[in-house]
Amino acid sequence: MASAPGSSVRVRFCPSPTGNPHVGLVRTALFNWAFAKHHQGTLVFRIEDTDAARDSEESYDQLLDSLRWLGFDWDEGPEIGGPHAPYRQSQRMDLYADVARKLLDAGHAYHCYCSQEELDTRRDAARAAGRPSGYDGHCRDLTEAQVAEYKAQGRTPIVRFRMPDETITFTDLVRGELTFTPENVPDFGIVRANGAPLYTLVNPVDDALMEITHVLRGEDLLSSTPRQIALYKALTELGIAQGTPHFGHLPYVMGEGNKKLSKRDPESSLNLYRERGFLPEGLLNYLSLLGWSLSADQDIFTMDEMTAAFDIADVNPNPARFDLKKAEAINADHIRLLDVKDFTERCAPWLKAPYAPWSPQDFDQARWEAIAPHAQTRLKVLSEITDNVDFLFLPEPAVDEASWTKAMKEGSDALLTTAREKLAAADWTSAESLKEAVLAAGEAHGLKLGKAQAPVRVAVTGRTVGLPLFESLEILGKEKTLARVDAALARLAA
Ligand code: GLU
Ligand code: ZN
Repeated sequence: MASAPGSSVRVRFCPSPTGNPHVGLVRTALFNWAFAKHHQGTLVFRIEDTDAARDSEESYDQLLDSLRWLGFDWDEGPEIGGPHAPYRQSQRMDLYADVARKLLDAGHAYHCYCSQEELDTRRDAARAAGRPSGYDGHCRDLTEAQVAEYKAQGRTPIVRFRMPDETITFTDLVRGELTFTPENVPDFGIVRANGAPLYTLVNPVDDALMEITHVLRGEDLLSSTPRQIALYKALTELGIAQGTPHFGHLPYVMGEGNKKLSKRDPESSLNLYRERGFLPEGLLNYLSLLGWSLSADQDIFTMDEMTAAFDIADVNPNPARFDLKKAEAINADHIRLLDVKDFTERCAPWLKAPYAPWSPQDFDQARWEAIAPHAQTRLKVLSEITDNVDFLFLPEPAVDEASWTKAMKEGSDALLTTAREKLAAADWTSAESLKEAVLAAGEAHGLKLGKAQAPVRVAVTGRTVGLPLFESLEILGKEKTLARVDAALARLAA
């Protein structure tokens, strides 16, 4: 997106490349993207890859691939660059070291020599005594002698930020006014003993340097906001930041059993939706509804409609429920909205290996194009296409034994024999004529159409459910259809 001249909104999307992209992350990206689009602002894409142990290049590639698949665009970021490059934190380490040094020099931060055991012991004691259990300020004002002794013991310090002794209040764009008292926001580490800067430092430092005006992110990060506000104040004093951005915390997403959807839950994996054949526009439409809505009576919308209407103030602070059924229903609606050519093209991945069980030379484009409109009105996700059309491209139908048992009852052989006769005499250029043939066969055996067509469907497609039967038969053709009815009769006779 091009930023409009004069637009001052700058937002960021700043994932860490750890593991597979998940739906919570996509929702955050979506709301930032929509906010930027709505305000003709700038979206900064930043990679928070300072955790060498957890970050991987593979995750980074996946992340980029996923964001592109979803159709997001951004104005500044790795690979495209921008005025605040580089946009990968692993390439900005000198900057963070410099800021940490300035914070130490100005007294906004100090070296903390406490060992993990000491911290744990004091925390447990504070808990037992009913006192706040966060860091107790032990190293805030060490004397030179104490520092010398710690050094002599071979301790290497972390850098800790000194929280001001004051209540912090801010107006969250989603949740309204929020207040944090000092005892709930203890001094926090910003640089590890090995010199590695932490999220607590690099995230607000980059937001400051990249001139971010609005921080929209998940509610799980709410507890870091008062710290960041304090850090911003210090950075502003040092001339590194120009004030504090606005913050808006997006509601939690709840999964099964009303538990917070975690990135470890399989249903939170973006790849799952992609592989099942969600359309990006269907998935984004659904994810928009996790905390936001276009209007009370319109669930289905395009991303253009969404971004035109998106207002962060309309985001609901209450937890949103992730409902797979609803996601599929919305995706189904988006499948219906495609033009048929687009639909046939988007199904392509599921019409070949590793999804398709037929050999490529048995695939028939004309048959596919003939059946596609019937499939388009029925699929919830594109991956369902494979099973729905395999009868057209496999030399023999893939018979589902449960379907066979269900459909092939006593008398099915007699019915199939009559149906074969009537079908053989029918007009194969008309699905209606094929229907009449099966209807007549049913009547001859005292069966309604539904009961009469079940054995025919299983004989020809291998399953009890599928696309409209008579259109399916017409597209498969007379010769193959009759041969399959014969094969079923032979199996029944055996
Ligand atoms: N890298 C952080 C994360 O993925 C970003 C958090 C934020 O938006 O401040 O959780
Ligand atoms: Zn300490």
